[in-house]
Amino acid sequence: MKYALVLVNIKGLGVKTFSYIVPDEMQGIAKIGQAVLVPFGRQGLINAFVVGFSDYLPEGIRAKKINRILDETPLFSIKYLKLLEWVANYYCTDFVTVLNAAIPMKLIEKNSKTEQSVVLINDNFEGLTKRQKEVLELLKTEGKSPLIEFEEKAKTTRATMKKLAEAGYVKIELEYVYRNPLTIFKDVEVEPLFELSPDQQSVYEGIKDKLKSPNPILLHGVTASGKTEVYFKLIKDVLDSGKNVLFMAPEIALASQLTKRLARKFGIKDVAIWHSSISDGEKYDVWQRLYNNEIRILAGARSAVFAPLQNIGLIIIDEEHEGAYKQTNPAPRYDARVVARRLAQFHQAPLLLGSATPDVSTYYFAQNNNNIFQMLKRFNNAPLAKPEVINMQEYGKAAYRSIISKPLQTEIKEAVENGKQVILLMNRRGFSTYTQCKACGTVVECPDCSIPMVWHADGKKLKCHYCSKEMSFPDFCPQCGSDALSNSGSGTQKIEILVKELFPEYRVERIDSDILTKKNAHIELLGKFQKGEIDILVGTQMIAKGLDNPNVTLVGVISADTGFSVPDFRASERGFQLLTQVAGRAGRGEYKGKVLFQTYNPDYYAFQTAKSQNYNKFFETEIKARQEFDYPPFSQIIRLILSSQNNFRAEKSAMEIAMRLTTMTEKFGFTEYLETLGPTPCIISKINGYYRFQILIKNKLSQKGHDFVSKFMNKITLPKDIKLAIDVDPLDIL
Ligand SMILES: [Zn+2]
Ligand SMILES: [Zn+2]
Repeated sequence: MKYALVLVNIKGLGVKTFSYIVPDEMQGIAKIGQAVLVPFGRQGLINAFVVGFSDYLPEGIRAKKINRILDETPLFSIKYLKLLEWVANYYCTDFVTVLNAAIPMKLIEKNSKTEQSVVLINDNFEGLTKRQKEVLELLKTEGKSPLIEFEEKAKTTRATMKKLAEAGYVKIELEYVYRNPLTIFKDVEVEPLFELSPDQQSVYEGIKDKLKSPNPILLHGVTASGKTEVYFKLIKDVLDSGKNVLFMAPEIALASQLTKRLARKFGIKDVAIWHSSISDGEKYDVWQRLYNNEIRILAGARSAVFAPLQNIGLIIIDEEHEGAYKQTNPAPRYDARVVARRLAQFHQAPLLLGSATPDVSTYYFAQNNNNIFQMLKRFNNAPLAKPEVINMQEYGKAAYRSIISKPLQTEIKEAVENGKQVILLMNRRGFSTYTQCKACGTVVECPDCSIPMVWHADGKKLKCHYCSKEMSFPDFCPQCGSDALSNSGSGTQKIEILVKELFPEYRVERIDSDILTKKNAHIELLGKFQKGEIDILVGTQMIAKGLDNPNVTLVGVISADTGFSVPDFRASERGFQLLTQVAGRAGRGEYKGKVLFQTYNPDYYAFQTAKSQNYNKFFETEIKARQEFDYPPFSQIIRLILSSQNNFRAEKSAMEIAMRLTTMTEKFGFTEYLETLGPTPCIISKINGYYRFQILIKNKLSQKGHDFVSKFMNKITLPKDIKLAIDVDPLDIL
């Protein structure tokens, strides 16, 4: 092959591919996945990765020669690139966008061989300055470290380090060292696997019989049913057979918890973690160790599906119903569950999905393939708390006029007085929901997005939850000039303040994404709650997941209707999942749990089934509705969003595309199976100053329909001022 396609990361340009000549002396040595050095304009020699070869150059291109191969051992395989290619094709995006999301930047930018490390060689610090001692003490605890990173951590300079080296305290070496395994492994002690209960044992054996199945296997287990022990037993079998395991959790916090548990059971040195927030350096190390097959179990969030784990024998996706497995923005808008399925096929490994409230489509397909296993009782036989309903509408009485009704107040008091803990769910952040003029009815909206601004009491600002724009509370209505503006609706901040007013002597804290701006604040608060240092925890859906605190006996849902009323085909599913998950937080230990839903719509079916925590019943009703309207799993949805700062132009190009698409589907005789809806303005019709129009395609031809649409989209060229986003299997259609 005469030419190599290489991947580079250029300041200002981002990640791109370019063609280079493979010189004679590199013929047969150059391989896909190798790090190379290439000349690039004024920047001189830069690092690059070989991602392909060809005998021809694109027209009009004059290629330069690859300068040298930095490392003959490749860092990824052809098989790996094939997976990324598949992702690009499935999600109708380009290959480089996927590469960019999958491969850590540092892998492209740096070459390990040139990194220095530093190690302490004399720990007699007498006669040194206080500052020098501090630096050396830190090095003593850290052990041998990469030099640059240590300097950052110790807040010291290269000059200081050099001086310490000359004085014989430290040694700077030209050798690469892996970073210290993450701090999450602190105080991890290995412990044996638990014995399985008879229920767990029979599910374990059932799943084991299915491991050769090419289709995903679903483990549907209610909260606290003991799914984890079943996973661990299966993991042990896979490790014993010499293969490796990928284990995914929907969020970073959950992935970290999971990694610790895995390390306790299977040893620290075999386990690694992967998610978007680990540092580039850590990613770089884990990548190398994965590629060298030094890691047996990789735990991680969504992006872990792209980590180059070798020799996979099992993929587990826990809490598989979570939306966090899908990347919505930017492209690639991939769903880790879909990619994992493809990855499993590549490795001929089974894919095991687990959930208390499975995704309706997952459940449907697993049922058709006879691949469902259920654990519908809690592990310790503790009864599932049966939610009770507080009908906020029926009673016009004063008791129900407060956002926290009298019956809920009484229960809160009783729980805390008995030394127990309480979770209050309010799935809207901020103080209120909207600010309205009492004179003319105008709602204050974000000037750039077509959604109401939300009052945040802690920063005393109105905030847009889409573009983060902030403004101070207006003195007068922008429409009629009246000063009768007031906040309506409630969010977590209002609940927090109200609870503190009602129970000034209790310890109350709030968790929502507003506190996430402080690093680790979320984990710290959850830790405090776990230790019993918080009586009442108020929060959004963030508190509905993963919390396993046996001392929680009361869960109150302030507004159980939130979510169900969203105009989206998955609204019932999401609402059902959230209520079931949060209800599962109560009574996990020896104390009986109580769950209270405050609602204005007690008769709605998804609400009723959530109340009885009856997934099967919910599924039966929901799947009928999906079938009637051809929603997934009975079709695949491909959503096109056209946006522009000019409302008219966005609409015009959306109409043109929809018309051409309709003509094409008619021409191919696909009309019945490939339904084009729209264009319509999106429900959120403006974000960040961009007017948005959407076209929904319901594809009932699976692969054939998908290929048709992606070919069609490839031929579309749009004027510069129009943006197009293609979302395959979108999470919502707002
Ligand atoms: Zn007004
Ligand atoms: Zn906005």
